[in-house]
Amino acid sequence: MGRWLPLGYNSAVMRRRWLLALVWLLAFPFLAAGPVGLPPITVVVDAGHGGEDPGAVVAGVEEKDIVLDIALRVFELSQGGPVEVVLTRATDRYVDLKERVRFAERVGAALYLSVHANFLSEPSVRGIEVWVDNTRSPGDRSWELAEAVLRAVVAETGARNRGVHSQKLYMRHTKLPAALVEVGYLSNYAERRLLLDPSYRERVARGILQGIYDFLGL
Ligand SMILES: [Zn+2]
Repeated sequence: MGRWLPLGYNSAVMRRRWLLALVWLLAFPFLAAGPVGLPPITVVVDAGHGGEDPGAVVAGVEEKDIVLDIALRVFELSQGGPVEVVLTRATDRYVDLKERVRFAERVGAALYLSVHANFLSEPSVRGIEVWVDNTRSPGDRSWELAEAVLRAVVAETGARNRGVHSQKLYMRHTKLPAALVEVGYLSNYAERRLLLDPSYRERVARGILQGIYDFLGL
C-alpha cells in the first residue's frame, strides 16, 4: 500500500468526514436532506502514464510530467470548493490502468477524468480533444462529461476545438462517467511551447475543473 501514500491520506480524511456527517445526521435528522455537514462530491483526476511510461516524448519534453503538473494544479484549484479532487498519482510513478478506474470506484467517485497530451507525426496538427470508450453511446454520461470538459478547457485556453471522439479505452472497465482529455499536441511546436508555460497549464487546469463543475451542475 506504500505506493498509495497520498491517496491513503485522502481516504483517511474522507473517513473522518463521513464520520462527522454521520454524527451530524444522528444529531439533526431533520437536516438530512440538506447539504450542510455532508461530505463533498469526490472526483478522480488521473495524470496519464508515469514512472517507466513517459507517454509522448518530443524534444526532451515528456507527457507524463506535463499532465502530472496539470493534475496537481486541478487538485490545488479545487481546495475549498464543492468537489474533493483525488488523484491516482501525485508523483512520477506508473499505476496499472485497470487499478486507476478501480480506485475511482473504491473512493466512491462521481466521475473519472484522465489527463493526457497528444502526439502526431504531422506537426501542424494542434488543439484539444476528448475521448470516451466506444462502448458508450453519444448521449451517455461519459459523452456529457467529455463535452463539458472540452467546452470549458477550450473557453479557458482559446485552443482549437478538435471535438469528442470514441475508441477502445481501458475506461470500459468502469461504469462511472469517464473521459480522457488530450490537452494539446506536444508534436506541434507552438502548442508544446504553450504546455511548457506554467501559466498556460494553470489555464488548462482551470478549464478542467470548470468542466467538472459544469458536468456536475455546480
Ligand atoms: Zn497519453
